[in-house]
Amino acid sequence: MTIIMAPEARVTARAAEGWGVTPTSSRTGTFQRASRHTPSDRTGTVRWGHSVRAVTPLPHGTARLHHHNHTTEDFDLVIGADGAWSRVRPALSDAQPSYAGVTLVEAHFGEVDHRHPGIARLVGRGTMSAKAGRRSLVLQRNSNGHVRAYINFRGPRDWHAGVDLADTEAVRVRLLAQYQGWDESLLDILRDNEGGFINRPMFVLPVPHTWRRVPGITLLGDAAHLMPPAGVGANLALLDATELAQSVIGHSTIAEALDAYESVMLPRAAENAKTAQQMLAGLMPDTDSDDAAFPDSLWPADPLPDSRPAHAS
Ligand SMILES: Cc1cc2nc3c(=O)[nH]c(=O)nc-3n(C[C@H](O)[C@H](O)[C@H](O)COP(=O)(O)OP(=O)(O)OC[C@H]3O[C@@H](n4cnc5c(N)ncnc54)[C@H](O)[C@@H]3O)c2cc1C
Repeated sequence: MTIIMAPEARVTARAAEGWGVTPTSSRTGTFQRASRHTPSDRTGTVRWGHSVRAVTPLPHGTARLHHHNHTTEDFDLVIGADGAWSRVRPALSDAQPSYAGVTLVEAHFGEVDHRHPGIARLVGRGTMSAKAGRRSLVLQRNSNGHVRAYINFRGPRDWHAGVDLADTEAVRVRLLAQYQGWDESLLDILRDNEGGFINRPMFVLPVPHTWRRVPGITLLGDAAHLMPPAGVGANLALLDATELAQSVIGHSTIAEALDAYESVMLPRAAENAKTAQQMLAGLMPDTDSDDAAFPDSLWPADPLPDSRPAHAS
């Protein structure tokens, strides 16, 4: 359930999933569940702390991985699942993430039901979103009574100019100045958080982001389709990974598998990125008005169709 509020903390709507902010699962929980099925470190299959510098295609459809320690290894298939600032992406495309004009500042609250009853009331069992014009405050309840806050606003990337981001009190003062006139209960999101503020300027890849297929190299998740965080990025990354695995299993060559995977993933990513952009423009309009209305419909009913690579078995 998402609670939608105006800046004076008046509830203007209650919505099920998919309106404004899609509920999210705990990243730590998802990671722990996934890593239970990952071969242990001892097999050498997973190498933690082993970062990649670049990837280059080789003749005969294989690819060379350049590690940060200046060693190299050759593989039949390199999958760039390395996020927004992918080191694999340059092997496929010249696209670079650019600032979307919106910044999210993250804050955290622990044990809200005991320590922050006001925050617990605001967020309820799901999410809360309050908005006026180009600013919003979002709360998401995660597991174990933990609440994550996003302080979101459209503005220049250097909104904190002259303030040391490590100086929590100075950042707090700068943020409070942006939310003058908002209800005291909402301002507690800026006043009572634990730990510091995490500055997250929003970066996006161009839409559509595509490439001519390069043998032995592909991308998934944010590396392929970094988009405004509209509640589907992690889902899409997991879906990409599942479908790519199915495609590799279901085809006799890597080339066929990548054809099948990319022919489904790229259009789906473009469609979701376009919707995420529209959603961002609706939620964070480039306007001086303090309009608190949420756009009526922000996300299509079925944003993640159960699509499969065309030739997967
Ligand atoms: C503020 C915010 C809120 C969000 N909220 C949601 C939400 O509610 N729901 C949702 O679905 N999505 C949300 N997203 C989006 C979601 O976090 C991403 O879409 C998702 O994490 C993408 O997964 P990924 O595996 O592609 O990339 P990442 O999660 O970025 O993982 C990339 C991995 O690659 C590793 N890596 C990076 N560079 C290298 C290198 N050179 N060598 C080796 N490894 C490397 C990194 O350490 C990291 O482990 C949000 C994003 C932001 C910024």
